[in-house]
Amino acid sequence: MSRILIIEDEVSIAELEKDYLELSGFEVELEADGEKGLERALSGDFDLLILDLMLPGMDGFEICRRFRETENIPIIMISAKKEDIDKIWGLGLGADDYMTKPFSPSEMVARVKAHLARYDRLIGSNYPENEIIEIRGLKIDKTARRVWINGEEKNFTTKEFDLLTFLAQNPNHVFTKEELFSKIWDMESIGDIATVTVHIKKIREKIEFNTAKPQYIETIWGVGYRFKM
Ligand code: CA
Repeated sequence: MSRILIIEDEVSIAELEKDYLELSGFEVELEADGEKGLERALSGDFDLLILDLMLPGMDGFEICRRFRETENIPIIMISAKKEDIDKIWGLGLGADDYMTKPFSPSEMVARVKAHLARYDRLIGSNYPENEIIEIRGLKIDKTARRVWINGEEKNFTTKEFDLLTFLAQNPNHVFTKEELFSKIWDMESIGDIATVTVHIKKIREKIEFNTAKPQYIETIWGVGYRFKM
């Protein structure tokens, strides 16, 4: 549920906004004083700020400016005077929208929803794409930790996945069992290089068409293993 903070000193307006937003499923908190409002906005985990311009303690211009130094959530500014709108934009405070009093509460709810949706898309697009390794029918999604062979997903244990991914990321490089053991298993692990052999066998059973003639992980006799590119 999205949380909204309303900083507004006119109680009747603040209550009206709160009622409408709560009816639409939002969680709403009110603050009437400017300075306290800024403090609360900065300390609370809010998704959107509705900010009146004329407030006791600190005005909306100053709150917006200071809040924007660290926070990115949408801010809708509320003003009693149309002239203030030019000032809001002119000062480049980073407000996302404004409304002049009196406004229709349902219009306000619509704008709140639109800004939250836009912000979600913006945040969502900041996640980097999954890191994928694809080699001859073998697909490893490093981010999701999933593996497919010719489109069919295979289940891997953590260590099997780590070992396969490490080898696939360093193709054509021959690693000794000792090197692989120290790379994939931490020092506290109980086990030895035979663990590596067992894991390679299990990985091959999952990804190789013919485990006797592996096309991905080759055995280099007397040395170790190599991922064939
Ligand atoms: Ca006011």
